[in-house]
Amino acid sequence: MPSTCDYTSTPNHTIDYGLEFTPGVARYSNEIDFDEASREWNRNKKRVGQMYLYICGEPTASGRPCQRRPKKGGCYCAQHT
Ligand SMILES: [Zn+2]
Repeated sequence: MPSTCDYTSTPNHTIDYGLEFTPGVARYSNEIDFDEASREWNRNKKRVGQMYLYICGEPTASGRPCQRRPKKGGCYCAQHT
């Protein structure tokens, strides 16, 4: 499915990336700032049970990432496109 989004991961890859950032893994690496990487990675995603959903992620007036779902085939919600 073609997408204009910069984040090209499929839903399956999304789950794989989630596993890379489990606390048990991060604890054994000093070479990568996993906290920072995880935070950035989570910026436009939202954990729902055992999986992640993409969210808009644009900063809102409150400073928190927008939690709306992106428009179909896009990166951002209707308001932030
Ligand atoms: Zn938004």
